[in-house]
Amino acid sequence: MTPFSFHRPATLDDAVGVLATAGPDAKIIAGGQSLLLALKERNARPNSVISIADVPGLSGVTETEAGSLEIGPCTTYAKLAKIALPGWHAEIPAVAGNLADRSVRSMGTIGGGVCEAGVRFDMPTLLSGLEASFKLTSARGVRVLNADAFFNASGGTYIARDEILTDITVPALPHWSNVAFEKFRFRTFDAAIATVAGAVLFAPDGTVERLRIVVGGVAKAPVVAIGTANSLKGRSLGAIFLPGVAMRVSNEVLPPENAVTRGQKYQSELVISLAARVLTRLSTGVHAS
Ligand SMILES: Cc1cc2nc3c(=O)[nH]c(=O)nc-3n(C[C@H](O)[C@H](O)[C@H](O)COP(=O)(O)OP(=O)(O)OC[C@H]3O[C@@H](n4cnc5c(N)ncnc54)[C@H](O)[C@@H]3O)c2cc1C
Repeated sequence: MTPFSFHRPATLDDAVGVLATAGPDAKIIAGGQSLLLALKERNARPNSVISIADVPGLSGVTETEAGSLEIGPCTTYAKLAKIALPGWHAEIPAVAGNLADRSVRSMGTIGGGVCEAGVRFDMPTLLSGLEASFKLTSARGVRVLNADAFFNASGGTYIARDEILTDITVPALPHWSNVAFEKFRFRTFDAAIATVAGAVLFAPDGTVERLRIVVGGVAKAPVVAIGTANSLKGRSLGAIFLPGVAMRVSNEVLPPENAVTRGQKYQSELVISLAARVLTRLSTGVHAS
């Protein structure tokens, strides 16, 4: 570890102020599960580390009057997992309670996970699937990015050097009729090799009004299978051969001509199987536990 100055601001204003003046190598720390590893391995060499753990208002989940969820970025996975939420919002605590191991869940935060945006992490795929939005605060002001604008296809995110993620907003329940997330990992505490999130809004006649399918682990950021999802508009999921759709999802996000190594072929088989499970759950309305 190389030496750095450590700051523990007590308010958000102080935090953005310190970050604005700390120079280009400053780093925010939340639960430290990714950053401490990077410091130990010298993959990160910040001159300043700014803890946001004591900043009020950055932890917890609140439901707005409009029914959307505002998730504080410093909410740990363990706390998130214990929050009872109705309808498809329940998929969020279910995913939080089923990633990594107990010690990572007790310290690691949802905000740290999305800011780190590891390709094998669960929340980037899930939150992208839900069409969550991300509020970024700096001394210059506030901006809100939707998931497609937040994750950088070349890896990481579009958070500017002087910005802090201060809120994650998940749409209100009527935004989707049903949501499903599936992943594959070798051991329970391993990060996933592939993740798939799906969200569907059914029209009153039961056909698909809007569908979003997002695949993680196959590229440097979650990939949206736009073409396959759009092709199902106006169709009834119950009347479609879902494994065929799952194969189209895999072909769209991992074109077969690019899947040349054994690992890539294995991953494309995984995506087919995970996408089929997601589509089946979307069509039957079963939430994972
Ligand atoms: C052993 C192990 C297993 C894991 N398995 C999984 C898994 O199965 N699934 C999964 O999804 N994840 C997994 N993870 C990753 C885990 O999700 C992240 O390490 C954790 O969420 C990071 O959160 P943190 O609060 O510890 O972030 P930190 O380590 O404190 O920060 C991570 C990065 O985000 C930045 N950052 C943090 N918060 C903010 C903010 N509010 N605004 C701006 N920047 C910020 C930091 O500057 C840093 O660059 C695993 C990690 C470990 C160590």
